[in-house]
Amino acid sequence: MISFRDVHVTYPTGTKGLDGVSLEIPDGQFVVVVGLSGAGKSTLIRAINGLVPVTSGELEVGGQRVDGARGGKLRRLRADVGMIFQGFNLVTRVSVLKNVLMGRLAHAPVGSLFGLYGAADKDIAFDALDRVGIIDKAYVRASQLSGGQQQRVAIARVLAQQAQVVLADEPVASLDPPTANAVMADLRRVQRELGITTVVNLHFLDLARTFADRIIGMRAGKVVFDGPADKVDDTV
Ligand code: ADP
Ligand code: ADP
Repeated sequence: MISFRDVHVTYPTGTKGLDGVSLEIPDGQFVVVVGLSGAGKSTLIRAINGLVPVTSGELEVGGQRVDGARGGKLRRLRADVGMIFQGFNLVTRVSVLKNVLMGRLAHAPVGSLFGLYGAADKDIAFDALDRVGIIDKAYVRASQLSGGQQQRVAIARVLAQQAQVVLADEPVASLDPPTANAVMADLRRVQRELGITTVVNLHFLDLARTFADRIIGMRAGKVVFDGPADKVDDTV
């Protein structure tokens, strides 16, 4: 469960990113956040993993308070929260497998040497690649892949992380429409298979309607719509 109680985020510039958000996301739900540029979608997502500090209110993930968490506590929280970005954020000069193994680092002890993975980690990484249909690309350099394939590597990385919560900030915004649809379908399928709580920001309402359990509409840092995907209207 992710729980926001009257959460405000004010940036150092004075701009309000979130202006009193209260909502609860139960485990296993696939939530899509929609709204115009500047509505507060990224701020909402970044608050969940503590990338953006909460100014006031309470924010809990899996029973742990995120607001005010820092150091080791924040690191443990983030180990269970996977991130997927618009720009994929892969290390493109190394193999797909190495990229997916990086998901395992979230659980490695602080100070452990980068690059030391056990057989169990490799099994987990291959299983993740299999789930998104790119196991045949394991030893290919990530830079060799298409955009759609690169984003599937990023999905495999959060699967290898065994994240309880996945946050995806405009994950398909840099893909062409058919690829965007296919990548969303893959994300949705593995999310269902594994029961991962997922919050995705999207520009396009049609994609949101196709894939979401629930749509949250934002405007000026506030939630202006919250309901099932088939009830959303075009004014959001
Ligand atoms: P969205 O993801 O819906 O485009 P954001 O959450 O990025 O919206 O932004 C919400 C508001 O906060 C906007 O007015 C934006 O300009 C502002 N904002 C976002 N990030 C920062 C920042 N680092 N510093 C100052 N203002 C910011
Ligand atoms: P996907 O195949 O993941 O749906 P795209 O629609 O971007 O992704 O790519 C369409 C096809 O073109 C794919 O079969 C992919 O292998 C190939 N392709 C696209 N870009 C590249 C690239 N930079 N290097 C190699 N192959 C590419």
